[in-house]
Amino acid sequence: MSAERKIESQVSTMMAKELNGGSRGLHYEESLLWEKERSDHSGVDFPQVKNFKNRTGQTERGDIGLPQVSEPQVVRHFVRLSTLNYSIDSGFFPLGSCTMKHNPRLNERMARLPGFAHVHPLQPQQTIQGALRVMHDLQHWLATLTGLPGVCLSPAAGAHGELAGVMTIRRAHEQKGNAHKTVMLIPDSAHGTNPATAAMCGYTIRVIPTKETGRMSVEAFKEALGDGHDVAGMMVTNPNTCGLFEREIVEIADLLHKAGAYFYCDGANFNALVGRVRPADFGVDVMHINLHKTFSTPHGGGGPGSGPICVTNELAPYMPVPTVVKQGETYVLETEDMRPTTLGRLKGFHGQFGMHIRALAYMMSHGGDGLRQVSEDAVLNANYILSQLKDVYNVPFDGPCMHECLLTEKVQKEKGVSTLDIAKALVEYGFHPMTVYFPLVVQGAMLIEPTETESKDSLDRFIGVMRHIADMVETGQGDELHEYPRSTPRRRLDEVKAARFPKLRWTKE
Ligand SMILES: *Cc1c(COP(=O)(O)O)cnc(C)c1O
Repeated sequence: MSAERKIESQVSTMMAKELNGGSRGLHYEESLLWEKERSDHSGVDFPQVKNFKNRTGQTERGDIGLPQVSEPQVVRHFVRLSTLNYSIDSGFFPLGSCTMKHNPRLNERMARLPGFAHVHPLQPQQTIQGALRVMHDLQHWLATLTGLPGVCLSPAAGAHGELAGVMTIRRAHEQKGNAHKTVMLIPDSAHGTNPATAAMCGYTIRVIPTKETGRMSVEAFKEALGDGHDVAGMMVTNPNTCGLFEREIVEIADLLHKAGAYFYCDGANFNALVGRVRPADFGVDVMHINLHKTFSTPHGGGGPGSGPICVTNELAPYMPVPTVVKQGETYVLETEDMRPTTLGRLKGFHGQFGMHIRALAYMMSHGGDGLRQVSEDAVLNANYILSQLKDVYNVPFDGPCMHECLLTEKVQKEKGVSTLDIAKALVEYGFHPMTVYFPLVVQGAMLIEPTETESKDSLDRFIGVMRHIADMVETGQGDELHEYPRSTPRRRLDEVKAARFPKLRWTKE
């Protein structure tokens, strides 16, 4: 190869390397087991039972239609399916609002210790003192980090934590005879679970508009509050889902409290604050924590999540049972008999104990200073991406962001390329797309959350691909993006048809 050719090919290899996340497309075209079957295959051959006579008088089982495949076919089928999962262990996962960070293997080791892995929730409490201590210590860490002393670990996800928290607020109002408080204030940038939770608890939702600046203003809040007599509480995410810190939150919380209402903080974005800000200090009364986001326990693909709630001393009597309390030297699960003011039990047993161990291992291995570094680095990474993309993508709100940055399709849309096209192009280049079309307050949103565990190298690759996509649009190759992804076995779906005429059952031809 001539020197010139060699350099050229090195350059193109470099380009190719820079333009993908380490893989390209999804490689297998995996058919259903039923499509693979052949009537002369079988996994196991049982000998015919000789002289068999049915003595039970019951009907004999006929052909139940299991696919006739051999063991290697079964193994290969499921292993292949497992490799189709894009995960944080296989690549960058910039899904805004989800905090897809690395799950340290130390956490996994701790959760697999036989003494933890083999306990049973029905064991007598004297025999599981160590497990209860883990829960008690975790309650202590969460109370310290949030400044909210009452902690209940049992909710099984963020949305379940919201339910637990808003039910706690409702219970407190019931006990105070506040039946007239029927309204929950929620900003328009909120995650859908917030209004859904409030509605499930019987509240009417009143929206606080934030559209122009991406933040709540005292003025808009006051308007939504009115004289406040009917307001039970407010549900706010801080930093909000536009990745911005609510700067006027202290004044807003004061006004809310003066009206006899409670401040529920959706803690999904705690990764931006952990170790630096205690939400109680900006007026929060109750908050859920997504252990599977901020505290690195695995998520994506369905769980199990874990959404403990933290509450003020005032609200602690009402939160769900069980919580772990220490009586002398003994750890005890607090029951309804011990705390009759509680709203009751929301979950079988005591919550996702495996997640409690992982989260505590994460906290203890980082320490307080390490956790502060987490939020600093998470915010730094998001601002790095913002700074490298803001000249080619529209940034709807001025100034630096917190742990995630918000872009929109505005520039590319003028040339016919939408957020969806950009997301699908990312798939082609081997990256999981960012969160798209959320928050709803901006058109064609792209919400990018890198987390602190990505290296500068992986951020640079992502930035490189995002700039390449913008460049394609700029130089008139935007139409090509409508075709992306190209290398995946499933390309663009007809999403309207899929939603309106879903095929939910496979039938043999
Ligand atoms: C993830 C998230 C939730 C819900 O948490 P789950 O654990 O998925 O139930 C609520 N609000 C915001 C802002 C979130 O990002």
